[in-house]
Amino acid sequence: MNRLLLVAALLGSAASAQTITPPAAPAPPPAPVSLPPEVARLRDAALKDDLAWDITEGLTTEVGQRLAATEAEARGRAWAVAKLRSLGFRNVRVEEFRMPVWTRGAETAEIVSPYPQKLVLTALGNSGATPAEGLAADVVVFREYNDLLAAPDGSLKGKIAYIGNAMGATQDGSSYGAFGVARRAGPALAARKGAAAVVIRSIGTDAHRNPHTGSTNWPAGTAPIPAAALSVPDAEQLERVAAKGRPVRMKLVLTPSFRGEGTSGNVIAEVPGTDPGAGVVLIGGHLDSWDLGTGAIDDASGLAITTAAAKRIMDSGRRPRRTIRVVWFGAEEVGGFGGQAYARMHGEERHAVASESDFGAGKVWRYEVNLPAGAAAVTDRLGAALAPLGIVRGTGLGGDGTDIGPMIRRGVGGVDLNQSGLSYFDTHHTPDDVLDRVDREDLRQNVAAWTAMLSVVAYAPEALGPVTPR
Ligand code: ZN
Ligand code: ZN
Repeated sequence: MNRLLLVAALLGSAASAQTITPPAAPAPPPAPVSLPPEVARLRDAALKDDLAWDITEGLTTEVGQRLAATEAEARGRAWAVAKLRSLGFRNVRVEEFRMPVWTRGAETAEIVSPYPQKLVLTALGNSGATPAEGLAADVVVFREYNDLLAAPDGSLKGKIAYIGNAMGATQDGSSYGAFGVARRAGPALAARKGAAAVVIRSIGTDAHRNPHTGSTNWPAGTAPIPAAALSVPDAEQLERVAAKGRPVRMKLVLTPSFRGEGTSGNVIAEVPGTDPGAGVVLIGGHLDSWDLGTGAIDDASGLAITTAAAKRIMDSGRRPRRTIRVVWFGAEEVGGFGGQAYARMHGEERHAVASESDFGAGKVWRYEVNLPAGAAAVTDRLGAALAPLGIVRGTGLGGDGTDIGPMIRRGVGGVDLNQSGLSYFDTHHTPDDVLDRVDREDLRQNVAAWTAMLSVVAYAPEALGPVTPR
């Protein structure tokens, strides 16, 4: 039970012990919020934006995939610096950091018996490797992560563990958090129980034979074992074969490798504000991508949306009060290294608010904030600025995201512009994460939402500063 539910439960039990009081008179309707006219003007002009498409198209076409700390990501940084300078941003620079490098190798799978056939899979990020000639072993099927949790220690010795899931699409993306544990923590759990390798059902909501990659984590002391995701139909096939009741034997060839330390970096660009004491408005997304597609929805579109919105503020003719800092974070996918590096370098600097776009290119449908108590009027103005775009206020606390996470945990306030998750996990981390998954009109709605947000937050006369850390 989280804290809010606990409070609600306590309040509920206290109220039930008292006599029932008549309902209070309905609250008066809220006073209309007055917005500076330029907010609506900038927002509506952004509905014709072409820059976000231009950036998404350029980065995915001229650079392609951008696996963290590889030569491809470095080309992405060079592309970013040239693009951001050409757009007129100030203080464009790269802040490099070092990190462990992992790259993909060969990846094939087959059922050896009782019904020999090939299956489609892809290695999870940070997967260990099989011998070059492969590894054959019996499969133990777990319908979900919790079933694996219950398996006795040592019971998987020498086996291939299979972990299923029942992920469905949700507008707020919450099913990714709930079912993604099978990918994030399942392989390490299976390794501790003795497994020789792990295959999971992809953390995805499609019905295509595209496996979904993504990072898995190895706590200190757990040696990586081969870990891969089957496409959803291939996972269902494996479950059907196992349900026939005869022992299932699989052969895996997975030869990814850890390549020691390498260099990644955050690319930074700014729209300078007039009041250095008012704190930075930190926005952005991540430059790196998985290597199966071209990282169009994850996360070229997030970079493009936030950059296009900042450019509109820069070109508006009215300097913002607060400096808008756009960061194209490096190495998010493989462990959030860029966000951690940013916090190491900028953690002591005053930030007004942080906000990232890393949930695809679908329309924004909701906003959530975590702002200081004295800034309620900012939240109201945000609501008025975003409502014409079909965006409603949520009840959660803003500040989600891997890259801004380290700053949010230091007490920086957050604003989230949530995109719909209803189709995001159809192509997330698959070979289909390419430009044709991006809808130009949806992208424009995003730019309008971010432009409206910046035109409120970056100019707000209210103090925006530390909040209670989430
Ligand atoms: Zn992402
Ligand atoms: Zn991702």
